[in-house]
Amino acid sequence: MIILDGKKTSDDIKDEIAIAVQNRRAKGLKIPHLAAIIVGNDGASMTYVSSKVKSCQKVGFNSTLIDLPEDTSEEQLLHEIEALNKDKDIDGFIVQLPLPGQIDEQKVLMAVDPDKDVDGFHPVNVGKMTLDLPSFLPATPFGILELLERYDVETSGKDVVVIGRSHIVGRPMSILLSQKRKVGNATVTIAHSRTKNLAEFTKKADIIVAALGIAEFLTGDMVKEGVTVIDVGITRVPDSSKKRGYRLAGDVDFESVSKKAAYITPVPGGVGPMTIAMLLKNTLKACENRDK
Ligand code: NAD
Repeated sequence: MIILDGKKTSDDIKDEIAIAVQNRRAKGLKIPHLAAIIVGNDGASMTYVSSKVKSCQKVGFNSTLIDLPEDTSEEQLLHEIEALNKDKDIDGFIVQLPLPGQIDEQKVLMAVDPDKDVDGFHPVNVGKMTLDLPSFLPATPFGILELLERYDVETSGKDVVVIGRSHIVGRPMSILLSQKRKVGNATVTIAHSRTKNLAEFTKKADIIVAALGIAEFLTGDMVKEGVTVIDVGITRVPDSSKKRGYRLAGDVDFESVSKKAAYITPVPGGVGPMTIAMLLKNTLKACENRDK
């Protein structure tokens, strides 16, 4: 069994990005600048945003964090987005999800300039991705493709089951893995909350991407020997033995599934750090696009 080490792989990617930034600096080119908007003080969202900002500093990017109160109106948020769209120094920005209930998430994502949409959530980028045209790929599925590529996991002709059909993970993952691309050419089944007899699908799968958000859902009896398992889930499970009062659990029961798997990602240290690395990669690309 080989651990797909997202922490190490993401560090390698960050080192590559840092070199690209140094080269840009040496040539007098613009230094990439990522901005992040966070609305409210959801604990998990704040942790994600602060690791994104820290990673920017690590690779030599400029970064801006816009921290808005929980009661921010949709209009105020759209105003902030418009300002970032117009700001010539900002190459890319993200709006951390989820947003408070008074704000229409779809409206917000539509307001982001597609050329600065480094999360790849704007319909223009989703459309381009679906048509296999150059675009910003959503960071989590992009990170999974990169991890599979760097560990030489064969996907061509393989049976893949993606569990979860969210717009940010499951659905784009299913599209990308079915495409004619280096990491792709797979036969993909997308499963969701209405799927009947899920285990019948997962037991036949060569590769499983679990992205449903239910702690330790996928168990050893649901997979075959030699499977590759990508665990996207991050759930905070109450744990009084931990100082912070919880532990992070994936969607996969690592204990039982790892006994049968050929490759598996851990949680933490798997898909999470890859997501951040690919956000940086998208930001570098956004900056390079603006050189032209
Ligand atoms: P979501 O909540 O938007 O969607 C969950 C999906 O799972 C839905 O499509 C639903 O149909 C499906 N589902 C729910 N119960 C199911 C069941 N019993 N059987 C089959 N399918 C079922 O989820 P999301 O935003 O894609 O996130 C999924 C998980 O991944 C969460 O734990 C989230 O925190 C995590 N996540 C991690 C990263 C990362 O970087 N590691 C990034 C994004 C999301």
